[in-house]
Amino acid sequence: MENTSNAPTPMKLQAVRGMNDVLPADSAKWEFFEETVTRVARQYGYRNMRAPIVEHTPLFVRSIGEVTDIVEKEMYSFEDKLNGEKLTLRPELTAGLVRAAIEANLTYNGPVRIYSLGEVFRHERPQKGRYRQFNQFDVECFGFDGPDVDAEIMIMTARIWRELGIDDVRLEINSLGNADERAAYRQKLIAHYEAHLDALDDEAKRRLHTNPMRILDSKVASVIEVNRTAPNLLDSLQDDSRAHFETLQQLLREANVPFEVNPRIVRGMDYYNRTAFEFVTERFGSPLTVCGGGRYDGLFEQLGGKSTPAIGFGMGIERMLMMLADRSNLAPLDAYLVHAGDAARVAAGKLAETLRDSGLAVAQHAGGGSFKSQMKKADASGARFALILGDNEVAAGTVAVKPMRNAAGEPIQGEQAIIMGSAVAAHLRRG
Ligand code: ATP
Ligand code: MG
Repeated sequence: MENTSNAPTPMKLQAVRGMNDVLPADSAKWEFFEETVTRVARQYGYRNMRAPIVEHTPLFVRSIGEVTDIVEKEMYSFEDKLNGEKLTLRPELTAGLVRAAIEANLTYNGPVRIYSLGEVFRHERPQKGRYRQFNQFDVECFGFDGPDVDAEIMIMTARIWRELGIDDVRLEINSLGNADERAAYRQKLIAHYEAHLDALDDEAKRRLHTNPMRILDSKVASVIEVNRTAPNLLDSLQDDSRAHFETLQQLLREANVPFEVNPRIVRGMDYYNRTAFEFVTERFGSPLTVCGGGRYDGLFEQLGGKSTPAIGFGMGIERMLMMLADRSNLAPLDAYLVHAGDAARVAAGKLAETLRDSGLAVAQHAGGGSFKSQMKKADASGARFALILGDNEVAAGTVAVKPMRNAAGEPIQGEQAIIMGSAVAAHLRRG
């Protein structure tokens, strides 16, 4: 045994910086979001897929790109001490899902539509709407060359906003062309920046010859100024890419999904080509991207799979939830069951199970106590009804029902009703 007399004071245990807990008061919003996006995705024929949180580091370096913010400075990478493997906590979902699709030969029988929900990790400076662990809702269409499916995922996202009750996001789209078109554009862009070298910060200078398109994404004031006069990638598009982009716009107009073309959208990963898009809100002062995605027709091949055109997007769930109204007061329970005495406890257990059999949410009081203290718990639980069982009720085969809240979770002063046991479920549903 070690000598513990001069052991250091134990470290105060706290969550890791930038990583948040979701407490019960907040989780109603999370569940509402997850239920909504899951339902809508299924309505469009998308199926769920889940990949591991940890992947081999080269997967992200090769897919996202060596000269990107994510790979250069935001990845949680580590060596597994037990076997020396180089691993990374996923900074986004697409790469892992594509890796899994290649391994399982998922598109063998044709294209597939996928949605996924999960945690991602980026070592950024934490601030409002920017965390080190956050969650994404992700949609991927493997094996579709578009532009019909490009429009589809934007139409689906527009429906998600409607169902979430969000009306202040706008869609911005761009085309990043194909590899040849980007190579041509790259030359024009480098020439432009070389003519304005003084305005570039060190990071921009460093990227000038490795990844000049990243400079378009800069948040440095002098670079933003130079970007204003930068050549436009859309001018470098050839006929096929141009037609793809124009048809996408046509399809969005037909579906009444408003959009703007924003040639400055470059996105943070190198795998994108042709369609790129973001949904942006101004609700928090400066523009905030809540959802971004695009086409990545070369990624399957780049990761060792068969050539497979694809498109997808990632939606930041925490940023979405900042836009949703509080839901913590919505009644989570149909009934709270108050009981006193041995016979009542037994009857309460049976009644609670019967009500759950019929689909109702019922909490049975635990921990004893007087009727009065149990009624306080019933009130605090947010349940719509208190059900009261004492010896008298058990003897008479009845239960007292006290309405406490309406469907919107607002308190109501109700009469207490005495109801025969078998009719309770029907009564609660009518209420
Ligand atoms: P930003 O420009 O804000 O850094 P990004 O381009 O890095 O965003 P993506 O890689 O496209 O973002 O990720 C998709 C979505 O995930 C973003 O639109 C945003 O809603 C969310 N997101 C990105 N980084 C964070 C973060 N650190 N914390 C919370 N949400 C994030
Ligand atoms: Mg970022």
